Amino acid sequence: MSTESSTRPVIDLHAHSNVSDGTESPTVLVETAAAAGIDVLAITDHDTVGGWEEATSAARRSGLTLVPGIEISSAVGGVSIHLLGYLTDPDDAALMAELAHARESRTTRLERMVARMAADGIPVTYEQVLAQVAPGATAGRPHIADALIANGTIRHRDEAFQVWLAEDSPYYVSHHSPHPVRAVELVRAAGGVPVLAHPFTRTRSRGADEALVEQMYAAGLAGLEAFHRDHGPEQIARAEALAERLGLLLTGSSDYHGEGKLNRLGEHTTSPDVLDAIEQASSGHTTIVRP
Ligand code: AMP
Ligand code: FE
Ligand code: FE
Ligand code: ZN
Repeated sequence: MSTESSTRPVIDLHAHSNVSDGTESPTVLVETAAAAGIDVLAITDHDTVGGWEEATSAARRSGLTLVPGIEISSAVGGVSIHLLGYLTDPDDAALMAELAHARESRTTRLERMVARMAADGIPVTYEQVLAQVAPGATAGRPHIADALIANGTIRHRDEAFQVWLAEDSPYYVSHHSPHPVRAVELVRAAGGVPVLAHPFTRTRSRGADEALVEQMYAAGLAGLEAFHRDHGPEQIARAEALAERLGLLLTGSSDYHGEGKLNRLGEHTTSPDVLDAIEQASSGHTTIVRP
């Protein structure tokens, strides 16, 4: 009798802590994942490696395998494209400079969004928003939602995203983001492995298209996050067809944000051979943290 299915590790390669817009500290994130039966977890905060150290210590304590990662917010033609980067060198000057620039511009952008909202009578101040951002964390629209939850205006982040925080809202302000091809180049140059997050996301008006994926592939894109809550059968089929044609890896992950989103840890997973391929494709400078 084969026991393969019962011993196959549960691998979730996309999760956020409060070092960006998740609601749990890196320690709590790792402990929650271990308790939920996740064997391998990637911490992929938006535009920062700031949670890696704490997550690494927590992983060593809880016996979970940790993949250090990031999720870069890139953009082209007004469309936001999220790129996961696994095992990048945290001391790579070019990548770190780009991420620092993004984080800075995210903060001023939130201040402008809040000013527009407040001018229109929505009860929120910039101070209230800053109070929701953990020290040193990457600020994002979810923190505006959190301020509105804290002051009793709404009950869940999603209510704010339905109208006020949406990309087509009059209050929306964009922030500095690299072109997706540049983001792929930066991740590769930092020895990391770039995987396009939720490429055809059906919850937003526009995602990536085949032509963009081809350009990113030419720059070194390694994979597509096909199995994700934001993808239905149609989006999965599109990703599978592209991966087949170009020879890209296919990953699946939760995109967990703690209580900030409905996404549950392990709701989509990645196969062990794909994780092996990701590890093989990295420079080896930053390594997977094994217990
Ligand atoms: P930003 O990084 O400021 O552009 O904000 C985008 C982030 O908002 C994404 O990474 C999501 O985690 C989060 N987000 C988008 N839509 C929703 C939603 N409906 N409910 C909760 N969080 C959301
Ligand atoms: Fe997020
Ligand atoms: Fe994303
Ligand atoms: Zn994410």
